[in-house]
Amino acid sequence: MENPLRGLPAPPPLGAAALPPGTYAGQVVLVTGGGTGLGKAIATEFARLGADVVIASRRPEQLKAACGELAAVPGAGRVTYAVCDIRDPEGVAELFDAAEAVLGLPDVLVNNAAANFPCPAEDLSPNAWRAVVDITLTGTWFVTREFGRRHLAADTPGSIVNIGASYAWTGGPGFAHSAAAKAGVKNLVETLAVEWGPYGIQINGLVPGLFPHTDMTEDVRGGLEHAAPGATDDRQPALRVGAPREVGWAATFLASPYARFVTGHTLVVDGANWQRRSVVAPPTVTVREQLGRGRFGA
Ligand code: NAP
Repeated sequence: MENPLRGLPAPPPLGAAALPPGTYAGQVVLVTGGGTGLGKAIATEFARLGADVVIASRRPEQLKAACGELAAVPGAGRVTYAVCDIRDPEGVAELFDAAEAVLGLPDVLVNNAAANFPCPAEDLSPNAWRAVVDITLTGTWFVTREFGRRHLAADTPGSIVNIGASYAWTGGPGFAHSAAAKAGVKNLVETLAVEWGPYGIQINGLVPGLFPHTDMTEDVRGGLEHAAPGATDDRQPALRVGAPREVGWAATFLASPYARFVTGHTLVVDGANWQRRSVVAPPTVTVREQLGRGRFGA
């Protein structure tokens, strides 16, 4: 039988903007991991509002391709990229040197780059743990540190948006490494909002819900066969997944002049999926079973 419920309405189409045209004219915005997925969607919305955008990650081919797309966004300012592994603090300093040389010191930093894959906690190797925590938490800190130090030295204000995940609050069965790292990323928001507020540096968190996109790795997409990009999704209260531009709009608001008194806050954009509870609890299925893994050690 067809589901008579409609869920939350679809958002305005791609190309719409919630903020006035030119809100970011003359501003430089750095988005880590801006060549793919949600990072590219976020960079697109800053570009649409007139920002000069620099995207950074490890793979030059996808950065180059994304730069072409960003430059074609109506209203976009200048667009450039820098190859950088955020785990390397010297490479991060070089990223800022390169951005400053071409566009100027970024006024806005979006810490979007992260790594993730599902795995039962007991199967996580030390290297797998380190890889995710080093990128998601330590890498985010290295980029944030460089941004903060340069603004403090220059005595200029700035705004940071850390992309998080709701399992920072709830725990993330099957994602122990990423959930622990994202809890750290969220905690940095709260610490630095107080520590750097006096210097004019604002920092907020932004938590996407389920936003399937075509750049997702097979590992992650494997668990999402029911939820294609733009699809309805009867497993969520909204009865749909998120459209990447919805995260872009939230990021451009949080870093904008209209949100200057909002700092230390984490905004969740997920149709209330993270607050869902059942009146009748479903049967418990272990993470091993959910991932189709046999008995541990067998
Ligand atoms: P994605 O497509 O896998 O993007 C990750 C990006 O990070 C890639 O561009 C990658 O580029 C970059 N990256 C990874 N390791 C890096 C490193 N060491 N140095 C520099 N860049 C690195 O992921 P996504 O789905 O768009 O997610 C974006 C953000 O949203 C992440 O913070 C994620 O945790 C969060 N999130 C997403 C969802 C969702 O449903 N999509 C849900 C909750 C939270 P390179 O490989 O070129 O380095």
